[in-house]
Amino acid sequence: MSLTHDVLIVGGGMVGGSLALALRRSGLRVGLIEARPFPTGNAPAFDDRVIALSLGSRRIMQGLGLWEDLAPEATAIRRIHVSDRGHFGATRIDCADEGVEALGYVAELRAMGAVLTHHFERDEAEPELIMPATLVDLEQDADAVRVTVERGSGERDELAARLLVAADGTHSPVRERLGIAVQREDYGQTAVIANVATERSHDGVAYERFTEHGPLAMLPMSDGRCSLVWTHRSEDAEARMAQDDDAFRADLQQAFGWRLGAITRVGRRASYPLALWRSAADYQGRCVLIGNAAHTLHPVAGQGLNLGLRDVAVLAELLWEAAHRGRDPGSAVLLARFSEWRRADLRFTAGYTDFLVRLFSNPWPPLAHARAAGLIVVDRLPPLRHALARRNMGLAGRQPLLGRGLSPLERIARWAS
Ligand SMILES: Cc1cc2nc3c(=O)[nH]c(=O)nc-3n(C[C@H](O)[C@H](O)[C@H](O)COP(=O)(O)OP(=O)(O)OC[C@H]3O[C@@H](n4cnc5c(N)ncnc54)[C@H](O)[C@@H]3O)c2cc1C
Repeated sequence: MSLTHDVLIVGGGMVGGSLALALRRSGLRVGLIEARPFPTGNAPAFDDRVIALSLGSRRIMQGLGLWEDLAPEATAIRRIHVSDRGHFGATRIDCADEGVEALGYVAELRAMGAVLTHHFERDEAEPELIMPATLVDLEQDADAVRVTVERGSGERDELAARLLVAADGTHSPVRERLGIAVQREDYGQTAVIANVATERSHDGVAYERFTEHGPLAMLPMSDGRCSLVWTHRSEDAEARMAQDDDAFRADLQQAFGWRLGAITRVGRRASYPLALWRSAADYQGRCVLIGNAAHTLHPVAGQGLNLGLRDVAVLAELLWEAAHRGRDPGSAVLLARFSEWRRADLRFTAGYTDFLVRLFSNPWPPLAHARAAGLIVVDRLPPLRHALARRNMGLAGRQPLLGRGLSPLERIARWAS
């Protein structure tokens, strides 16, 4: 069977969709296979979650040409305040101290889906949208990956490409078909999310508070609202979800405190069971895993999508380079370079997130005192705080072009000159 594409991407969530847009004008024939119908706006990949985007992710979106449309929907995080309920000590990170205009931005995942949709509609030629279509079979040899997709109508199509990118989420059917093992650690925790209104303005401050139930984040949002992500032991989450609004509000007030005055309203709640998923390999043959398919993290540090977008930025750069030099986009050399480039960031971010969850979910008193001391130390030691802030902003390590807000087209222009 002859090749139908150079690159096939499975999964049109935020990660797969961003990669598809990043490869426009690269000269590669790209197909995006997504099980849900287009437009993407109402799919589960773009549900009620509210995302803290790092400054690095903002730059990636700038490079992709998406930021201009997302900016009016995004709220800047100017300060981060981390505290441990019932203990003294807090860590504060301020954008002025870091020399940046914002530490990150908060935006609704649904708004991001709408921006992706808008960009797909604006340039209908690229990428080819193969949706609704579910990948049902996959095989590969030395030269190509062949997949079977089932269209919404029930018809089956055979497609073949040099590279298959799995951006098909936590339960990744591609990863399963490839037989790549996954390490799964269940935290026994569930995140309860809702938008809340408060008496006082959030003033661009993101609060992370560790409570006896689990970590609680209040992120600054548009219209003066805050986005709540409140982690509970899974056995307590059902009761929390079933509470009426007044009881929920009272408990939240007690856990969060009065930094924003009274909590005046709580919107619709949703819940997500939390686990750490780490794929044993990030590529096999001509297939590569990115985003949640490769790594799914606890949302405590707000890093999951940010990490996925950094996968996109690196892979896009390597694929642009391959296209420009006429090289095979699915070669073992290219995929090994991708894996190598991403390794340190992935290990650090997954390890650091896991460490925070375990450290702050443990009620053992000596540990609680050590934690409080740790928050004070970070607060008083600018070099340590600065290093942590750079990590959280996604600015540590070697940055691909997109991570610097530049489009790969600029690199091509430089090569050409
Ligand atoms: C409560 C909560 C809060 C969070 N907060 C943050 C935050 O503040 N900051 C942050 O960076 N991250 C955050 N995250 C993480 C973030 O939401 C995810 O990392 C991100 O949305 C994953 O995107 P993805 O595109 O990799 O996967 P998904 O969004 O799961 O997309 C996968 C896509 O693949 C498609 N698909 C699956 N199988 C097939 C198939 N066989 N054929 C075709 N298509 C298929 C699906 O339909 C889906 O559209 C949070 C997560 C949670 C749960």
